[in-house]
Amino acid sequence: MNHIRTKPPPSTASFFFTSVAGVDLILWASGAKPNNATFRTTMAASLDEAGRLVTEPSLLVRGSEHVFALGDCAETGASKTAYMVGAQAPVVAGNVKALADGKPATGLKAFTCGTPAMAVPVGAAYGRGILPFCGGIQIGNSMVSSAKGKTLFLDKTRADLGY
Ligand SMILES: Cc1cc2nc3c(=O)[nH]c(=O)nc-3n(C[C@H](O)[C@H](O)[C@H](O)COP(=O)(O)OP(=O)(O)OC[C@H]3O[C@@H](n4cnc5c(N)ncnc54)[C@H](O)[C@@H]3O)c2cc1C
Repeated sequence: MNHIRTKPPPSTASFFFTSVAGVDLILWASGAKPNNATFRTTMAASLDEAGRLVTEPSLLVRGSEHVFALGDCAETGASKTAYMVGAQAPVVAGNVKALADGKPATGLKAFTCGTPAMAVPVGAAYGRGILPFCGGIQIGNSMVSSAKGKTLFLDKTRADLGY
C-alpha cells in the first residue's frame, strides 16, 4: 500500500471532484493483486496475465468442470467489488446445486454483471457513488454519507453474517 503525504499538512485533497480540507495523509489502497498462491500451481492454465482465474459465464473456471471462481480472484468481466461478489454468490450456489443434482454444465445459469454500483465515503460527511440504474447515476456527499458514511455497511454485514 502506498501512502501520500500532502504538503504542507494539514492540507486539502480532491476526491472525485470533491475537495476535503484538513487532510494530511492519504492511504492509497487500490490496485490490489489477487492472492492466488493456492491455485497458481494447480490451475495455472486458467490464470490470466493479472493472476486471476478466467471464468465461463456460469463462473466455472475455464477448463474446469467443477471448480467455480468468484470475487476478486476471478476474471468474470465484472468490477472487483463486494457488490459484484454479492451478485455472483447466488449464481455459483445455484450452479453448484445444479451440478450436484446431476444437471449438465450446458444448462448452468449465466452471471451477467450489469451496471456497477459503488459508494465511496470520504470521512463521515463526504463521498461519491454510482447507483446501478440507467447506466449509472452519480450520487454525492449527502446520499453517500447517509447510506454508507456513518456505518460503512457494518450493520448490513453483521446481519448478513448472522450476528
Ligand atoms: C480500500 C478498498 C475499498 C473498497 N471499497 C469498496 C466499495 O466501496 N464497494 C465495493 O463493492 N467494493 C469495495 N472494495 C472491493 C471489495 O473489498 C472486494 O471486491 C471484495 O472484498 C472481494 O471479496 P472476495 O471475497 O473476492 O475477496 P476478499 O474480501 O479479499 O476475501 C478473500 C479472503 O480469502 C482469504 N484467503 C486468501 N488466501 C487464502 C488461503 N490460502 N486460505 C484461506 N484463506 C485465504 C483472505 O485472507 C481473505 O479474507 C474495496 C476494496 C478496497 C481494497
